[in-house]
Amino acid sequence: MGRPLLGHVRANEVAKQGRRSVESYQKLREVACEANLLVPKYGLAILTWGNVSAFDPERRVFAIKPSGVPYEHLTPDEMVVVDLSGTVVWGHNRPSSDTPTHRVLYAAFPQLGGITHTHSSSAVAWAQALQDVPVLGTTHADHCPGPVHCTPFLRQEAVQRAYEEETGILVLETLKQKGTSPLETNMILVGGHGPFTWGKTATESVQNALILEEICSLALKTIQIQPFPRKLPDYILEKHWERKHGPHAYYGQAENRH
Ligand SMILES: [Zn+2]
Repeated sequence: MGRPLLGHVRANEVAKQGRRSVESYQKLREVACEANLLVPKYGLAILTWGNVSAFDPERRVFAIKPSGVPYEHLTPDEMVVVDLSGTVVWGHNRPSSDTPTHRVLYAAFPQLGGITHTHSSSAVAWAQALQDVPVLGTTHADHCPGPVHCTPFLRQEAVQRAYEEETGILVLETLKQKGTSPLETNMILVGGHGPFTWGKTATESVQNALILEEICSLALKTIQIQPFPRKLPDYILEKHWERKHGPHAYYGQAENRH
């Protein structure tokens, strides 16, 4: 007997481990797996670096990459499903070590459908320099309506208390201090660490990670040519942001405007 998606062996494991639901979260795991596979495809991480999660707001769980498993071995069955208390509700792997960061962000903003963390090199370079990325051109303005913010370093007591959870708290606090929120921007740099991005879906969160890497790369090259470049004038910035995201947006096709 047993549910077909779990199978006999898996059902036994559920009983043994006592931490899996009979719910298999098949679709959510497929979505998360597919999005994770975009990370190496887009060149955003090497080895096992990086992680993507997909959130189900109704069941308040998310599927995330397992810790330390190479991308070429990822399948939907390797994903781990975690609830917002941090309990693993499906999966035989240990979830990504960054899982508490994802959990904090979903708990505060359940509107997010996916979160991506990578160590893409240009974004990490800005994070290591502890610098906000200024709006220098329309590539940036098309996707982020202001600087890409960089958090300060986490404090020592925060790292010692609960490093990954505190990283999520720092992301939220930094955005709040800057007068914005994860609903108004979809990217941030964690100081000394690297980028976190999110989106309406897990796939969109990875695309935003790719966009952020390109924004950081272009800004880096610009500063190599001109160490003190002029920021993009507000009237150009606003035009580009509004034509893609404003109430009268006219970029792209009506059903796929982004
Ligand atoms: Zn990391």
